[in-house]
Formats: sequence, C-alpha cells, structure tokens
Amino acid sequence: MNVKDHVSSVKGIGPKKAEALNRMGIHTIQDFLYFYPRGYQDRRQITKIGELENGSLALIQGKIKLKVKGGYGKKQTLKLLVSDDSGSAEIVFFNARFLIHKFEIEEEFTFYGRVAIEYGKTKMIHPEFLKKDEKDGRGIIPIYPLTAGVSQSDMYKWQNLANGLLSDLQEYLTEDIVQRNKLCDLQYALDNIHFPPDKNHLKAAKYRLVFDELLFLQIGLQSVKNRITAKEKGTAFHSDVKMEEFVTGLSYSLTGAQKKVLAEINGDMESDKVMNRLVQGDVGSGKTVVAEAALYKAVKSGFQGVLMAPTELLARQHFESLREEFGGYGIEVGFLSGSMSAKNKKETLERLANGNIQVLVGTHALIQPSVLFKNLGLVITDEQHRFGVNQRNLLTEKGKNPDVLVMTATPIPRTLAVILYGDLDISVIDELPPGRQKIITNAFKKEKREQAYSFVRQQIRQGRQAYVVAPLIEESETLENVISAEELYRQLRKSFPEVRTALLHGEMKQAEKDAVMEKFYTGEIEMLVSTVVIEVGINVPNATIMVIENAERFGLAQLHQLRGRVGRGKDQSYCLLISGSESSVSKERIEIMVSTSDGFVIAEKDLKLRGPGEFFGLRQHGLPDLKLADLGRHMGILNQTKEEAKKILERDPKLLSVEMAGIKQKTIELFGENAVLSI
Ligand code: ADP
Ligand code: MG
Repeated sequence: MNVKDHVSSVKGIGPKKAEALNRMGIHTIQDFLYFYPRGYQDRRQITKIGELENGSLALIQGKIKLKVKGGYGKKQTLKLLVSDDSGSAEIVFFNARFLIHKFEIEEEFTFYGRVAIEYGKTKMIHPEFLKKDEKDGRGIIPIYPLTAGVSQSDMYKWQNLANGLLSDLQEYLTEDIVQRNKLCDLQYALDNIHFPPDKNHLKAAKYRLVFDELLFLQIGLQSVKNRITAKEKGTAFHSDVKMEEFVTGLSYSLTGAQKKVLAEINGDMESDKVMNRLVQGDVGSGKTVVAEAALYKAVKSGFQGVLMAPTELLARQHFESLREEFGGYGIEVGFLSGSMSAKNKKETLERLANGNIQVLVGTHALIQPSVLFKNLGLVITDEQHRFGVNQRNLLTEKGKNPDVLVMTATPIPRTLAVILYGDLDISVIDELPPGRQKIITNAFKKEKREQAYSFVRQQIRQGRQAYVVAPLIEESETLENVISAEELYRQLRKSFPEVRTALLHGEMKQAEKDAVMEKFYTGEIEMLVSTVVIEVGINVPNATIMVIENAERFGLAQLHQLRGRVGRGKDQSYCLLISGSESSVSKERIEIMVSTSDGFVIAEKDLKLRGPGEFFGLRQHGLPDLKLADLGRHMGILNQTKEEAKKILERDPKLLSVEMAGIKQKTIELFGENAVLSI
C-alpha cells in the first residue's frame, strides 16, 4: 500500500464510507495525513476503577468478566462487567447489535468515557474502547471532525494506517529552509500533529505545518505577481481618448472617490505597464460606472474589452446597462453565457473574433477556449471574490498582456487585502453617491415575525417592493428551525393573498429565473421570496424592504451584501432581520448590522468574530485553504514565509532546479496545473 492510493483500497472502506470521506475532502490515504484533529484528549493516565470519580472523563483498563445481552433486533443492549485489581465497573452499550461479538470473556480492554456512579455502582455509557493489544488508546488522543457515516474510531483506525505509510512521503522543503527556520521535518510533523506524545512535540509539528501553509500561499501569490510584472509591455491606451467624454454624458456627476479611482485607472491605462488593479467599493458605491468609463477608453483607443460577472443575473444586468450607456457612442456590446443557444453563441463568437463586438459581457463561459478576441485590451472582472486566480488568468491570456481591473464589493480590511491581492494594486471607492438614505435596520425575534411582515404589507400598499430571503431552498431534515424559501413562499402566499409574490432560487432554470427577475424589475411582482441568489449586484430601485429570515445563519459580509440590495432609489429603505437563535455570536452579529452600515467597519468586526481563516475564504479565491494557520495570530510566521518565498523565487523563478522539484510539486498539488503553467 502507498499513501497515494485511493481510500477505497483500504480494507473496510466500502463505497459508502469512501463517499463520506470524499465529502470531507479525503480521497487518498495521504489526505488523511493532512486531515488534522480538531482537538485532543489527554488519556495518558489509566485510572484505577476503584478510584474513579463521578462525572469525570477517565481511561480504565480491565478484563471482561461478564457479558450480558438484552433486548432484541436493533434495540439490543450490551452490558459488560470489567474489573481491574481495584474494583469493577459496568460498561453499557445501547443499539449494540454490531458490538456484541467484539468482546470475549477474560479479554483485556481499555475504555475511555464519562464515569457515572449511582447507588455505589460505577458505570460508563458508550465509552470508546480498544483491545489492549491494538495500538493502545493511551497517550494524547486526536479528536477529528466527523461527518455522517464516519465515526471517531473509524478515523482513529485509518489515521493509524496512514501513519504507518508516512515513510512514503518525501520532504519537499530544502535543507537550508528547514535549518534557517528551525523547522522539524515533514514526517515528524505529520506524525506528531495526529499522535503527539506531549505538548512540545505537538507544538513543533504545528509550527512546521503552519509555516508550510503560509509559505505555499506566498509562493503561489508571488509567482502570479512576478509573472505579471515580468511581462514585457502592456497596452498603452491613447491619452487623447478622455474618460471625461463619457463621464460628462452621465445623468449625474461622479463622487470624489469615483474620480480619484478613475484617475488611478487612467494613469495605469495610459502607461505601457500592465495594469493589475483591484477596485474595492462598498455596495452601491458606483463601481459599474467606473468600469464603464475604463471600457469606453479601451474601445475608443481601438481595443476590445471584456467584463465577467459571477452570475448570469448580474452579467445580464451589466449587459443591459452597458448597452444603454454605450448606445449613444456607437459601441457594440455583446453577451455570452452558458445557457445561450448554440446558434446564438456561434454568431456572437464570430462577431467577437472579427472585432464587430467591442465589449463582451458574460459569465465564466467567457473563459472557454472557443472565445477568441480580435484584440483584447482590457479585462474586467466584477465581484472578484467569486472568481479564482486561475480563472482570471485564463481570461487575460486571451489578449496580448491586456490591462486588468478587478472589482469587489466585499470590503476587506486593508491588512488582509494586501496579502490576498498581493498581486494587485488597490483602489478604494470610500464614499457613497450623495443623497443616499441610510437603510434603517431592525432586528426581530422569531416570535415577533408578524410585526415585521405587517410592516412589509404597509410598504407594499404604498407601492414599494420587498425581498424576503431564506437560507435554504427546500426543507431540510437535519436543520430544524430553519425556514426554506419554498416553505416561506407557501406561507406568504397564504397570509398575503393580495400581494403578487414570486419565488426565486438557484436551482430554477435560467429562463424561469429571468422571467421572475424581469417581472420584479417592472414591478409586476411585489414580493420576491428568494435564497441568496439575489446577493450580488441586483439593482431594483423601487425595492425598499429586505427581510432576512434566520438571519443568524448568514455571515456578516453576506448580510451586508443582502442589505445592499435596497436603498438604491429615492425612498427610505428598511432591512428587517428575523433571527431564530439566541446565541451570543449571532446576537453580536445582528447588533453590528443594526449599528453600522459601513462595509469596512463590518468587515473588521467580521474578521474579529470569525477569525481570518474562515473570513478569508481562500478557496473562493482559487487559493489553498489554511487549515492550521491563522492570519491573526501568525502574522510573524507570515512575514517570515513572505521573505522565504521571495528568496526561493529570486533564486529560481520558474522552480526548474532539481533542488526545487519538491516545492514545485507541492505548488502544483495546492494551486493546480494552471497556476504552475503560469509560473
Ligand atoms: P456597486 O458599486 O454596488 O456595483 P452600482 O455601480 O450598481 O454600485 O451603482 C449603484 C447605483 O448608483 C446605480 O444605480 C448607479 O447608476 C448609481 N450611481 C453610481 N454613481 C453615482 C453617482 N456618482 N451619483 C449618483 N448615482 C450614482
Ligand atoms: Mg456592482
């Protein structure tokens, strides 16, 4: 057996367990080694049965003296009497049909569990157990996160097996990196993170693995940046094509922040260095018009531009808006998405290739190989947090060093933005257009839902429209007390028969979604019951109410995004947060939402509440997850790895030397082939 083998080759892992493991991200035996415990239990001391204390967690070791079965069928119980030289304890298992044959009289076992002493009788209910001669359950025992179908003792067994194959693993760091940073070696780290004999071993293991996570994150990010700056020359757009020509034609004037950001973009576009700029701006800060001005300049300079959005809904909205704004300037705008008919698509691609289409808007369908431009000069991705580094690269490769603009509506604290978008220059639109009203946010406990909805009814009577968002599409068996969009839709139709209500969720067909959205735009639908599909970018100025059910189930960033769907017109808007949980974290989150509407403040608080690991959502950025590293606590190691990555890439930018083979291999494993192709 080899660590690269698939888990299904392990005896005892059938299709069901394999599937459960896959869901946990475990595909090969090696993945077990990188599936770290969520905690540890200290089982170094065996306690004498005679000295057990009521209510404590304890490890005992003894011989089985009696075995009694009770009940029948699935309900069988099993009672064991276990003795050591100090006394006896009763071990009880319910639903024990599968356990009965594991125990034989006079065999010696260890049991670990909670002690209950009643009427002088010592018991352990459902303890974990190991036969004495199995790799014994003493020491510091790892506790793993689990999923349905995988038990703690399963994991323990498989981890032991994977541990036995550790010697298959090659060290990938070079000797000097290991020395300089005082790291333990890889096998030691992956052994001790699971089975540490003591705290010091665990500490050394953790340090090495955190170092690795951050080092490869840095290598990945820096190599992208190097690749970009290494490019000979980008496109220099004409300085006599002025963005102002477009801007003065708008029905409003730009905010100071928009002007500042446009000047930065203009500078980049006119210079022959490749632009790689991130535009951060809160929801509603007016990023679209900034993108439009940049596209205008690109097209009027004789180039094509492309705008990619993460959802079809948003892409279509951009398309409509661009067509409207650009119509007067004779700029041809095209649209491309996966759901288009083959004929339509073919025609669009032809018109794109011959330069007839000057600006193409679409979803990730844009990155397909069949999409070829005549001379692509400007690439814009909207709501970048939905795209990965690789997707962005695939799009830019369709032009000859095109300028790149990345727009995100997820405010990110500056410290993190610098790391996450290490490859980009950053512009911030930190001002909202004038006259925006503050959205009034109120929190409701679940029992007070009726109040919230009677307010919704009032608003609808006054001609306004409302969004109602639920966390799930359909009822879930595992999540009690969480309302689904479908259920909510049924309820609301019943209690508000006079209100024109519709349902929208991500599993609906595109045409159905479009039809519903269209009717909401035109006001034909007054109340839209939805999942988070409406999260990004939707713009319906007459919608003034956002009701969020089970608000405790959404992250702060998401709540903020959702709230940004209202307050887009002249009327006072409201956000009503209905929460079904009293937990302190969810209360705190809701309080933050009520007290501020500044996306950057919310992002800072979110970071504190959730910790950077989760906040960061590296996966969404096409970057490997951080499992152990915590950007809040490990800033020191982060800086260290930044230096180390710089040294590595300076010495061997393409990681071609034999010495760097291990690092290159690991980078491919984490970032995918594409990323390394681009190194
Ligand atoms: P976001 O940054 O969330 O993408 P949008 O670009 O969709 O925001 O802008 C939101 C709304 O604000 C749009 O209706 C847009 O026309 C309008 N808008 C943008 N800039 C200004 C401005 N300077 N003055 C007034 N309205 C503006
Ligand atoms: Mg937008």
